[in-house]
Amino acid sequence: QSPESLLGKVLAVQANYYWVRVEGEHLKSMLLCTRRSLLKKIGQRVMVGDQVRVEEPDWIQGSGAIAEIFPRRSELDRPPIANADQILLVFALAEPTIEPYQLSRFLIKAESTGSEVCLCLSKSDLAILEEKQHWSQRLAAWGYNPLFISVRQSIGLSEIHDRLSQKITVVAGPSGVGKSSLINQLIPAANLRTGTVSGKLAKGRHTTRHTELFELPLGGLLADTPGFNQPDLDRSPEDLASYFPEIRQRLAVARCQFNDCTHRDEPGCVVRGEWERYEHYLIFLEEAIVFQAHL
Ligand code: GDP
Ligand code: ZN
Repeated sequence: QSPESLLGKVLAVQANYYWVRVEGEHLKSMLLCTRRSLLKKIGQRVMVGDQVRVEEPDWIQGSGAIAEIFPRRSELDRPPIANADQILLVFALAEPTIEPYQLSRFLIKAESTGSEVCLCLSKSDLAILEEKQHWSQRLAAWGYNPLFISVRQSIGLSEIHDRLSQKITVVAGPSGVGKSSLINQLIPAANLRTGTVSGKLAKGRHTTRHTELFELPLGGLLADTPGFNQPDLDRSPEDLASYFPEIRQRLAVARCQFNDCTHRDEPGCVVRGEWERYEHYLIFLEEAIVFQAHL
């Protein structure tokens, strides 16, 4: 690594400019970068979350040029984020109450990203103990161990901080469950770049929708967008089964008679059974088959 080249992470993208947090003890560690023409030529897009090599850092101007993008561990489409470690899926215990089928859809979508899924049940101040126990047990059978939080009463927030530290996290969930309230709570006002954004970037800021990663006090990064909230249905029947922890657990200890078992009515199936979300699986499977037929 030459002295004129350093490593960093892209935290925001706006038109042809990139905010890159560079590593090391620099006076200005956030550089506004352009992209080397070579990257343009080979059509390499820079995404929020990308690990990059920056050349010609100008510490006075606070600028540089992205010369290389390192291979991505994962890639999300909507919102466009590279290297996301986990999806923080938020549902509310009340207002709105949990609709199991909708929750199931979001879980499947979150699992399909390949990132880890962290389920969070919000507004715990509105639920009684029995309701929390009910969901705790029910979701354990689904393969999830939800975090109970209340932004209003500051419950469970340190657990959330722990789960998010050192990771890139995307928040997802239906509207009204408290995602924005949680994000505002997690990201200290001092970390918001509004107001420090200069020149050209500032102009476009409020006119273009974009994704941005914010730094958390314990070192993680959080996407400021409320994340995906329209789970789509593009999944293959083969992959679908792998998005259910219940099915993963069953297939880890036993095998279906047929390798290409769809777990519907084949003989010798170890997946078909009396578990709650098996019905959801069958519905999603039909959708996946219809989707495949239209490809
Ligand atoms: P979003 O649509 O998921 O971003 O949800 P918002 O953050 O906009 O919150 C929706 C509503 O839920 C607002 O009226 C919030 O004040 C309320 N809310 C958020 N968090 C809590 C909470 O922990 N407890 C209660 N009781 N209400 C909350
Ligand atoms: Zn089977």
